[in-house]
Amino acid sequence: MTDIRQRDVMDLARTAPARPLVDAFQRRITYLRLSVTDRCDLRCTYCMPERMTFLPRKDVLTLEELYDLATGFIARGVTKIRITGGEPLVRRDIVDLFRALGRHLVSRGGALKELTLTTNATQLGAHAEDLAKAGVERVNISLDTLDREHFERLTRRDALPQVLEGIAAAKDAGLKVKLNAVALKGVNEDEIEGLIAWAHGQGHDVTLIEVMPLGDVEEERLDQYLPLDAVKSRLEQRWTLEPSDASTGGPARYWDIAETGGRLGLITPHTGNFCEGCNRLRVTATGQLYPCLGGAERVDLRAALRSDEPEKQVAEALNRALTIKPEKHHFRMDQRGAAPHLPRHMSMTGG
Ligand code: SAM
Ligand code: SF4
Repeated sequence: MTDIRQRDVMDLARTAPARPLVDAFQRRITYLRLSVTDRCDLRCTYCMPERMTFLPRKDVLTLEELYDLATGFIARGVTKIRITGGEPLVRRDIVDLFRALGRHLVSRGGALKELTLTTNATQLGAHAEDLAKAGVERVNISLDTLDREHFERLTRRDALPQVLEGIAAAKDAGLKVKLNAVALKGVNEDEIEGLIAWAHGQGHDVTLIEVMPLGDVEEERLDQYLPLDAVKSRLEQRWTLEPSDASTGGPARYWDIAETGGRLGLITPHTGNFCEGCNRLRVTATGQLYPCLGGAERVDLRAALRSDEPEKQVAEALNRALTIKPEKHHFRMDQRGAAPHLPRHMSMTGG
């Protein structure tokens, strides 16, 4: 049992930020993606190998440390927090963190506009209602195929029924669901239309993602890579895609599909760069702040948090992070047999 429920809601987080987070390229940081574990109950082939080595638990931030860190970000003007992983819902007592952070939501008199998560949905059946009560309104769910056998091949676990139950539970709890699918050459490329049609029929938007060369996996990255401009052309043969003005300040470009009435997002790190308006920072479960998903630059917030002067040290570490946030990522996906662009897996930094 954790004592996170006893944590006070700091007044600091309710007032206007004294020193907003602005980087060297004048981008204002308002979005924190916070990983709460590197562990996962699936083993998606594009994300991690079957025999993944996970971090020793002592290296991972406690729920109280995660909470303190998150409130420190809110005090500096962060208005959106996404909890991610690994699989965030495999972490014990994680709903306590949502409940504690939920008290900072604007709807509850705080300064946080949105508290959300990215999940594979295997545990959502058990948690959807509690998350909604904690103040979560929207959830991103990763789903790359609706075919049970393909799902098992892709995630190395036979969990599609459980995931579909999780998605239904989220809908029943009143959460707005967005599905994320990684487009994979020769794996799910023929299923993308069906996945979009199903999702839009259920009232869920869909975002497609190009695979990124993060961490060693057991497959050749170039063989997985499916450029989304080709996918979009194929979709346009069936549907009318109208550019949407929806924007999250994030990497996705959006289209409304006239025939389905649903929205389609495309995240194209390779065929289109999206860094200009980047408003986010990422923190791993060990408290390493990575200002860019595609960069090696980092600042150690855990050392700052566990120092004798945590507030001062964390503030200084955040200031340092702002000076090293790169202008753009430099992912490359053009060399067969190349080492990963970065050794760390997506499950480490949080997708
Ligand atoms: N386990 C949760 C899930 O799958 O939703 C949250 C963490 S997962 C790392 C976050 C997102 O990253 C997922 O949508 C996943 O599909 C995506 N992802 C993982 N590895 C990737 C890679 N190498 N390239 C592109 N997307 C990746
Ligand atoms: Fe787990 Fe998400 Fe990575 Fe799949 S993408 S292995 S669900 S962390």
